[in-house]
Amino acid sequence: MPAMAIPHEELPEWIDSSTFRLPESSYFQQRVPKDLIVLHATASSTARSVYETWKNPAGGRVSTAYVVERDGRVYQMFPPDCWAYHLGMRVRNPGHYNDRRSIGIEIVNPGPLRSDPEGGDTLNWWPENFRRPWCRVSEEDAYVRREYRGFKYYAAYTPEQEEAVRRLVVWLCRRFSIPRVLPHVSERDVCDTDKFCRFRGIAAHHNFRPDKLDVGPAWNWESLLPVAAVRPRAA
Ligand SMILES: [Zn+2]
Repeated sequence: MPAMAIPHEELPEWIDSSTFRLPESSYFQQRVPKDLIVLHATASSTARSVYETWKNPAGGRVSTAYVVERDGRVYQMFPPDCWAYHLGMRVRNPGHYNDRRSIGIEIVNPGPLRSDPEGGDTLNWWPENFRRPWCRVSEEDAYVRREYRGFKYYAAYTPEQEEAVRRLVVWLCRRFSIPRVLPHVSERDVCDTDKFCRFRGIAAHHNFRPDKLDVGPAWNWESLLPVAAVRPRAA
């Protein structure tokens, strides 16, 4: 076990750190203080798909410490006090400062959806130029309809993922003393590098890059707030 790894017995039993364990060529084994969590979506349908990509030695150390499967399983890909490239920022990121200070969580999700180009009753995801069906238009729980960065539909996250990401964020914030703070509602969807390079708390990839669609408009930010802050039920 590398010197900086969290001893296995300190990991909660709901974190699986053995199934998808990245080789040391896929991240930097360097312990860095953390003050930021960045949420991503995989643009894929399984955790294995990103693992297979990231473990390639030619991958250039692009990966995140955690991947959350559709069924809510949490995979640890490398020790969270280490780091890897996960933001791909070309500006405002000297020495990969933002990649180093953050813990990335990839949530398995196909990303934006489009109406079927053949006129079928499905919403499709990106493979074969948006010809692969993801859900039927009538399955309204499977997607959210919102205009965002050039798309009108985004695949929904599952309730199991919402619960798992919440649990993981709570654990990571405690463990690394990261403030459990979200961007203000008015700033959650925007890219503002001036602001987010100084932000400490929980943010999304789309906050750091204007061309990114993840974590996107389907994510329920409110699920990450402390329970006491949950909005009262409407009368
Ligand atoms: Zn991303």
